[in-house]
This record gives sequence, C-alpha cells and structure tokens, in this order.
Amino acid sequence: MKSFQKELKRRRTFGIISHPDAGKTTLTEKLLLFGGAIQEAGAVKSNKIKKGATSDFMEIERQRGISVATSVLAFEYKNIKINILDTPGHKDFAEDTFRTLTAVDSVIVVIDVAKGVEEQTEKLVEVCRMRNIPMIVFINKMDREGKDAFELLDEIEQKLNLTVTPLSYPIGMGYDFKGIYNIWEKNVNLFTGDPKKDIEDTIEISDLTSEELDELIGSKAADNLREELELAQGVYPEFDKEAYLEGRLQPVFFGSALNNFGVRELLDCFINIAPTPRPKESEERLVKPDEDKFTGFVFKIHANMDPKHRDRLAFVKIVSGKFERNKAYLHVRHNKNLKFSSPNAFFAEKKEIVDVSYPGDIVGLHDTGNFKIGDTLTEGENLNYRGIPSFSPEHFRYINNADPMKSKQLAKGVDQLMDEGVAQLFTLELNGRKIIGTVGALQFEVIQYRLEHEYGAKCTYENLNVYKATWVEAEDEKSEEFKDFKRVKAKFLAKDKKGQLVFLADSQFSLQMTQDKYRSIKFHFTSEF
Ligand code: GDP
Repeated sequence: MKSFQKELKRRRTFGIISHPDAGKTTLTEKLLLFGGAIQEAGAVKSNKIKKGATSDFMEIERQRGISVATSVLAFEYKNIKINILDTPGHKDFAEDTFRTLTAVDSVIVVIDVAKGVEEQTEKLVEVCRMRNIPMIVFINKMDREGKDAFELLDEIEQKLNLTVTPLSYPIGMGYDFKGIYNIWEKNVNLFTGDPKKDIEDTIEISDLTSEELDELIGSKAADNLREELELAQGVYPEFDKEAYLEGRLQPVFFGSALNNFGVRELLDCFINIAPTPRPKESEERLVKPDEDKFTGFVFKIHANMDPKHRDRLAFVKIVSGKFERNKAYLHVRHNKNLKFSSPNAFFAEKKEIVDVSYPGDIVGLHDTGNFKIGDTLTEGENLNYRGIPSFSPEHFRYINNADPMKSKQLAKGVDQLMDEGVAQLFTLELNGRKIIGTVGALQFEVIQYRLEHEYGAKCTYENLNVYKATWVEAEDEKSEEFKDFKRVKAKFLAKDKKGQLVFLADSQFSLQMTQDKYRSIKFHFTSEF
C-alpha cells in the first residue's frame, strides 16, 4: 500500500451551500465545535455582506479579512480530516462560489424550514448537479414553525430536481418540536432547546412499534411518527451509498443548527458516506488521487490585505500525490519550475506552514503574480486541469483611467484583480476600449477602491448597455457567414482575457436575432464549451 493511502482515505473535503441566512455559518461553527477545533460559539465569523454596507469600504476590507480567515476550515473528527471550503452565499460573489465548487468532493445543502428552497440554493445546486457532486441536504431551524416535512421534501425534489430520501425525520416542529428520529442509526434524539445538552444523549429505538416510543414522546406523536415514517418508506427510495456518491440520490437530515440539534447525526453520517478525494478530469486524462505524483490546481487567489506586501495567496487543491515543501513543481501554463518554502495549511482558525499535504487538502502558496485561477501544478507532467469556466457577467461598464500619470499601475492592477477573479475584462475589437464585467454591482466599488489603495491608480466608469456576454464559436472561421457576422457586429465584439472572441449583446432580442441570422455560429453563456 502506498504510503499516503491512509491519509487519503481519511480526508473529506466539502462545501456548505445555502441561500444567505439559512444557517451556513451557524452549522459550520457547530461542526467545528464537534471537532474540538473551536471552543465556543461565535468564533466563526460570517462573511455576509451587511445590508446597506455596500459603500462602506471598511466593510469591504473587513469582508476580505474574514474571507481569508474562513476560506478553508479544517478539523479532525473521529480520526477523519475534514476540510470545509467556504462558499459565499451572497449573489454578487456567486462566481467565487462556483469556482470553489470545482475543488470540493461533496456538499451539504442547508435549507431553512420556513423559507424552503430559495433562489441561491437553486443556482448552486444546479451547478453541483451538473457535475454529479454528492449532496446531503440539511433542513435547518426545526425549532421554528415551517413547512411540513413532506411538503418540503416535495419542494426540494421539484425545484432542485433531486431525488431525496430522509435519513432522519422530525417529530413535530416549531413550538411542538420534540426531536428527531434518526433513520440512519435507528434512535431518537429528544429536543430540549438547550444547546449545551449532552450531544450523545440519544435513545435507541430499533423497533418503532415499541411502547417506549409512546412513553418518550407521547402516544399521539408516536403514532404520527409511525404513520409518517411508513408513508415516507413507501414514497422515498431506500438509501443507497453508490447512488449518493454518483449524485443520483440525496439523503436529507433535519435539525436546528443554532441549538446544535441534529448536527451530530449529520456529521456522523457524513464521515461515513461522504466521498474521499475524487478523481479529476484533465484535458489529457483522468487523474486518480492515489497516483504517486503530485498534481493540483489553483481555484482561488487572495491578495494580501496589507498594501505594503503585494504578495498573494494562491489556494491549491491537491488532486493526486503528496505536496511537499521546498520541492520543485511545474507550473504548466508558464512551463516553469517553482519551489515553495512556506506552503500554508489551514486549520479552523489559523494557518500554518506544513511540510507535506495530501489529496483533498488545500495549500496556500505565496505568489508574486505567477498564478491565475485554473492554473495546474504537477511533478513534471504536461497536464492541464479543465479550466474553471467564466460565466457571462450581469453588469458591464467601461473603465477609464482617471490619472494619466498612473496608467501602468492601472493596467497592472486591473490585470491582477482579473487574475484573482474579482471580475472579467473585455477589450473591444473596434477601438481597444476596456470593459469590466461583474456578477454584482458591488464589485465595481471593490475594484475602484482596491486599485486606489493597492496600486495607487484611479479609475472612473462609464455606463454601457450590455445584456449578456456570449462566447462565440464558429463552425468555420473562414466562412462567408462568419466574415459577415464580424463585419456587421463589429461594434459588439470583444476579446476576453484569454483572447477568446465574445459577442456583447445589448438585449435579449438582439441576441435572439443574431442567433437566428447566423445559424453556423454558436453563442455560449460560459467560456468553456
Ligand atoms: P448564513 O447566512 O447561512 O451563514 O446564516 P447564519 O448561520 O448566519 O444564520 C442566520 C440567522 O439564523 C442567524 O440569526 C442565526 O442565529 C439563525 N439560525 C441559524 N440556525 C438556526 C436554527 O436552527 N434555529 C433558529 N431559530 N435560528 C437559527
């Protein structure tokens, strides 16, 4: 057996996704408490954007600080090394979350029992579903009045297009919430509303017909539970680990993160069924985690908060082999060997320099501008992990230089911020004007502020009417049709940072018209097709 097999087998790298306010931060914190990684509640900072704080730049910096601190939270539980990757819930940072999802091996989806499936949940789950990422659903806030369990499971199936099966089942809800029956472990956990309650305090009920259940929760609730469980068994498929791992079946748990209720059940099941680091496709071949040689890719870049230290931290997910300190690795895009003397590993609340990391782990590498999101590192093999696609931005503005003496600084700043993935840059074919595209309006302020404070450059924006950016793929670049398209639409054509041709449609109607007119040209909403 290879030396690192044991390490590989005990790793679980996942992300928690939810609509803001469903309870992601609270759940994260409770999971860390179980791992003994933190001692008290309140230790995990929410990276939520505070309402109305969009023009408060201290808020942006505070945000960035938290987002470094919570990027990766690692802890051990029952000898399993768990890496939680932070996924911002705010829609302006959705792109960040999409990229992080390329580095997780599974996800937990948190849903608010009262609000049900919300908009961000839908979008994020769709991305996970497309990639067959195994998902566990946690229905949170059972201490509050909410939707009936069946109704909610139905809604999840309908709106999220999932096939669910409950592995725990609530006994009442809100004011009447009595606890949960753990279908997975066949026991009852009674709810006392005391978050400090002994978490191991569950009562074995292997036989649902036993009178003990009536004594515990009262005959009415017991009969209700029996009935509902029977019904659930008829409606939902039996749990099947293979199906879960292939993304075909999603187990569901109920609980209350705030009260630390139902969280242990979730975690115990999670370490049992969640996948160890999964194989990953590259342009060349499928790479397996247990291969001897190291490979990994950059999924996130974070600039130093201190403007005096311009270095950045590149977050690398290890896909295969061991990553060792001070060993030379190939930066494939630059065809250059690089050594890292102080790779960071992440723990619940701190980062530390480590000598060796294993598949599933994330290492933070100090970078002076070598890395771009999506870059691959290997032990010499010319291998490229499938890029991380860019999606069409929602907002577009011209960016202008406001200080002619600082045009170099501006160019460098814009370049680096785009590498970090803060926004996308398009250059108009016709006149070379630069356009910034972002997912949320907030990013324009972030860019302006950071250009000034980190690069000493000033910019202004000018409005521009673009509906969507679409990546252009021509069947035949020499065809008359394509030439005609380029001539007629010259005003609307730009290149992205990679030099790919992009059509900036000014309305849905004009995009439709263009698609109808040029049948041999495809217009893609993402940069990878
Ligand atoms: P996030 O935006 O998904 O990270 O959500 P938070 O973890 O910050 O939670 C949002 C709000 O819901 C906070 O006020 C929490 O205290 C509250 N909350 C979280 N879990 C529960 C729960 O189980 N029950 C109740 N009643 N409130 C909860």
